[in-house]
Amino acid sequence: MDSPLDARAWLRCYRCWSTNLEVQVHYEGIHRIDPDTGERAEVVDELQEAVVQCLDCMHDQPHLAFAAGRVEPIEDRWERMIAGTPWVASCTVQVDVDEVETCSGPDAGDALSYAAFGDPGTREFFTHVRFHTHDDEEHITVHLLVELYARSAEEATGVLEEAARGLLSITSLAEESRPPASAGSDHR
Ligand SMILES: [Zn+2]
Repeated sequence: MDSPLDARAWLRCYRCWSTNLEVQVHYEGIHRIDPDTGERAEVVDELQEAVVQCLDCMHDQPHLAFAAGRVEPIEDRWERMIAGTPWVASCTVQVDVDEVETCSGPDAGDALSYAAFGDPGTREFFTHVRFHTHDDEEHITVHLLVELYARSAEEATGVLEEAARGLLSITSLAEESRPPASAGSDHR
């Protein structure tokens, strides 16, 4: 097959197309105990977090979700990420001060990335905060370099616009070459 977009096209690493994946599942649960059998019974509270990772290039796979024992594609994301190429944007996002949990210390990068682009900013894109400025008492401008996967410049711009949680300004947007496909992949 020439195209990666055949059956199960999504069940592979978005960067190197390897099908050598693993999932790390963290589960925390509180359960009632059945008074007769001692078995773990109904759930009082539970929290499950799962990260799918490629064993060939070791990158996380934000186009895949883990639920009910199997990996599934994230519909508005997987085709763009599997078929796309990396785009690097230099941009700024101006956000309300209230949106930024902290702008100093070891968590500042993540907090500013999240304030600028929400969940995609910390989970999908590679986001590097270059610096930030306090424009006035109510606004912070975050200056970032962002790498994301898209099939065209228009699509990359659209994804950034949709994710931005404040006023977005893109200074430059350039296409990078795709990392080489994994030799262990069944894709040719
Ligand atoms: Zn990979």
